Amino acid sequence: MMKRVYLDYAATTPTDPEVIKAMQPYFFDKFGNPSSIHAFGQEAKKAIEDSREKVASFLGAKPEEIIFTSGGTESNNSAVEGVAYALEGRGNHIITTVIEHHAITEPCKFLEKKGFKVTYVGVDKNGLVSPEDVKKAITAKTVLISVMHANNEIGTIEPVGEIGKIAKEKGIYFHTDAVQTTGHISVNVDELNVNLLSLSAHKFYGPKGVGVLYIRKGTRVERFLHGGDQEKGRRASTHNTPAIVGLGKAIELCQNKMEAEAKFQIYLRDKIIKQITDKIPEVYLNGHPNLRLPNNVNISIKYIEGESIILNLDMLGIAVSTGSACTSTSLEPSHVLLAIGLSHEIAHGSLRVTLGRWTKEEEIDYLLEHLPNIVEKLRAMSPLYEKKNGK
Ligand SMILES: *Cc1c(COP(=O)(O)O)cnc(C)c1O
Repeated sequence: MMKRVYLDYAATTPTDPEVIKAMQPYFFDKFGNPSSIHAFGQEAKKAIEDSREKVASFLGAKPEEIIFTSGGTESNNSAVEGVAYALEGRGNHIITTVIEHHAITEPCKFLEKKGFKVTYVGVDKNGLVSPEDVKKAITAKTVLISVMHANNEIGTIEPVGEIGKIAKEKGIYFHTDAVQTTGHISVNVDELNVNLLSLSAHKFYGPKGVGVLYIRKGTRVERFLHGGDQEKGRRASTHNTPAIVGLGKAIELCQNKMEAEAKFQIYLRDKIIKQITDKIPEVYLNGHPNLRLPNNVNISIKYIEGESIILNLDMLGIAVSTGSACTSTSLEPSHVLLAIGLSHEIAHGSLRVTLGRWTKEEEIDYLLEHLPNIVEKLRAMSPLYEKKNGK
């Protein structure tokens, strides 16, 4: 069988076998509806409340502030639209950034069509948002600020705690998309000064299709799904008990393993960055050199297209990602790479390598052994490279 090396953990992670084991009983033996008052229901309800406590413990929150959702996208949509509609009488202005995930920018664009005003604050060349810029964007009508904890493409960790402090002083609700950080680095709702925070289980070795929206006590948010009174009426629909149990188990495992895992990943990450920049001419690291996720490498390789590298690595069984076009339905390169000031041409040649719980050093060595040859081969065929060399 061909060697298979998965280096795309920022896209999704495998579900940890221990998580699967914890979920298993809730499909058949303990299948009750958590809203039922009989023993079958109460056994499922207890499992959900245990999971809620585990999430609260990780975040430094209270269990009643944890709302289970269908994932990061629902949590983000609900935070943005839920606050906008709840505070419509007070103001119609939202502040966010140019590097957010589409699950934030799309609901913002939707609200703009409904008459809301949105300011998209820019970033510097390392992808950092300036708290001062956020402060300057505040108006008397501002009801929500949303800034991601760390960027999913370039890995930059944002000064969320500082921005949250500004929001708090002005009495404005503050949300952070912590989908890329939860389970990987410390995420504490008081240190981050947030009213709302999104996370998603499949980014930290839990199952897909389940997440959390943390809502600080007293924060006004319009309900997201109208129906039964599950999740204190904030989010109707019968709980997905196995998934919620899986999320709880996954976050508990991360709480125990995170520190050691981050240490090893930083070692591997820095090895990749050093060797690629040493061995291949004209490559550039995207994102902040040290304020970055332990598992993220994002580099631009001049004169070639990201998807050509992806396909060549895929033939060797190596899975990575790119911010180039063709991975999405649009022809535009990633909005994040353009936001940090890369030209279209350079943004097209980007490569994202993300590491995780099962990444081994020998897998990184396998990547590093083949990547320089692939780049050399592709450059030899590139019209851009020929032009540069005056051919
Ligand atoms: C993956 C991701 C999301 C979306 O989460 P889903 O659970 O897949 O809906 C949102 N924000 C960021 C930063 C992400 O990386």
